[in-house]
Amino acid sequence: MNEQQTVPQRRNVVRLKALQRASRRLLVEQTGAASYRVSSASQAGRSYYVLIDPETLTGQCTCPWAQYGGVNCKHVLAVLQAHYAGRGALSFWADPGAARRQHRPIIAGEHLYVTVRR
Ligand SMILES: [Zn+2]
Repeated sequence: MNEQQTVPQRRNVVRLKALQRASRRLLVEQTGAASYRVSSASQAGRSYYVLIDPETLTGQCTCPWAQYGGVNCKHVLAVLQAHYAGRGALSFWADPGAARRQHRPIIAGEHLYVTVRR
């Protein structure tokens, strides 16, 4: 097994799972067709603005992490979950193989894969 190939991928998966957990503690409010305000549930008054493209599962966020080039921050994940709430509970995956192993319907984005549990 090649450590140099598997380790970064696993780290990516762990990070996505941590971000997904953190995203559940956020309050999401739709402000336009594809725009949302995301607020911290624990720190009143702190909110960021997110614009998503639901087809590619991508988003732009005003949080510091996204400003420095981070993709799929917890705010974008929270908005995607809210956007697709009618379909069921979402799980986020960094690579298509991990998503396929869930044996659930998959929404494939540009840098992100989502499985849906009804
Ligand atoms: Zn963000």
